[in-house]
Amino acid sequence: MALYVQKFGGSSLADATCMQRVAQRVYDTRAEGHSVVVVLSAMGKTTDNLINLSKQVNPQPDEREMDMLLATGEQVSVAILAMALHAMGAEAVSMTGPQAGISTDSAHTKAKITEINPERIVQNLEKGRIVIVCGFQGLSPSADIATLGRGGSDTTAVALAAALKADRCQIFTDVDGVYTCDPRIVKAARKLDIIAYDEMLELASMGAKVLQSRSVEFAKKYGVELEVLTSFDRIPGTVVKEEVNDMEQIVVRGVAGDKNQAKVTIQQVPDQPGVAAKLFKELAAANVNVDMIVQNVSERGHTDISFTVPRDEVNRARTTVDQLVPALNAAGATYDIDIAKVSIVGVGMRSHSGVAYRMFEALSANKINVEMISTSEIKISVVIRSAYADQAMNVLHDAFELGQTQPAS
Ligand code: ADP
Ligand code: ASP
Ligand code: MG
Repeated sequence: MALYVQKFGGSSLADATCMQRVAQRVYDTRAEGHSVVVVLSAMGKTTDNLINLSKQVNPQPDEREMDMLLATGEQVSVAILAMALHAMGAEAVSMTGPQAGISTDSAHTKAKITEINPERIVQNLEKGRIVIVCGFQGLSPSADIATLGRGGSDTTAVALAAALKADRCQIFTDVDGVYTCDPRIVKAARKLDIIAYDEMLELASMGAKVLQSRSVEFAKKYGVELEVLTSFDRIPGTVVKEEVNDMEQIVVRGVAGDKNQAKVTIQQVPDQPGVAAKLFKELAAANVNVDMIVQNVSERGHTDISFTVPRDEVNRARTTVDQLVPALNAAGATYDIDIAKVSIVGVGMRSHSGVAYRMFEALSANKINVEMISTSEIKISVVIRSAYADQAMNVLHDAFELGQTQPAS
């Protein structure tokens, strides 16, 4: 007898038929004698629709109220699934995040889980019930509902699996596993049988939305082995796990792209100590997530500083930067939303040389201009014009022969 955490994403829950398919899957797992905790997202495009609705009445909705609104989507799902399971004769009970004992910090719309008290879940499991928990939400220190950021149900599932010491954590979605690249963009993308936590973390952080990056961080920290698989078929998926020795033989495991980025450039900043500290301190205080940072070579005591931010944070960045430009004695600032970030990821980069060369050569052969570069031990990212993002992902996928079963080393 094992304990399963099974998470189903919005596309697996689009309508009543999908709900019944999911109910059957959960029912079958329980019928095999396992305990089951289910984590659900909102049905279909519900979260997008709720965001659009809010923007029609207020272009900058209050974040506490936003969480109040968005959390309703998951609540619909869990109640409907419980009803579908009851109709099949199963014992099931639905719970909101707070009812399931999930506490978060107070960062509305991008809260972090701080603690889980799974007592109520455990009591219900002991009674033989299937427990169905709302993904993406928890209770903040001020007893308000808080949500975990887009894709946050993945994180709820992994965090519950860790807290309950579950035997399996399965993430059911609309593709049959983690691919070498988003299969909707790169037709030649290939399903991976296994991927290391660190690789999955980089891919997810760099735009592969198949898993929320925070869920992978959690999985790595608590050693939760994840399986990503389709809810539409009964076939094995991809296992996300600790790195094993032979993983380094493959140089590049996957390619990711992120079109939800913007580039901010501050021109003619005096090249003096303390300038960057002041700038990034103010941006942090404004809750802006800065990623790539590039400072140009200094000319006559002045330099340009560019950095990327998530596109939906560019207005917040603009408010801060426009105020700072006079204080920093800079010449001005520009905001560019027509950029994308494209990355290659693989633990094999640690032990292979020439990877950057191959990446830049492939891009230049296709006349794709690189505007910014950043690297980590197992990743190279470039900023390019967003119009070329899909082409660049295909070009890099080809250059590293990722469509083949034995990619080049
Ligand atoms: P869910 O609603 O189940 O949470 P998401 O839409 O959040 O599903 O994530 C699944 C989607 O992630 C897929 O439909 C696919 O287009 C996209 N995706 C991006 N990169 C990858 C990748 N490397 N492998 C698989 N899917 C990917
Ligand atoms: N419903 C939320 C979203 O669409 C959370 C999730 O699906 O994981 O982002
Ligand atoms: Mg998702």
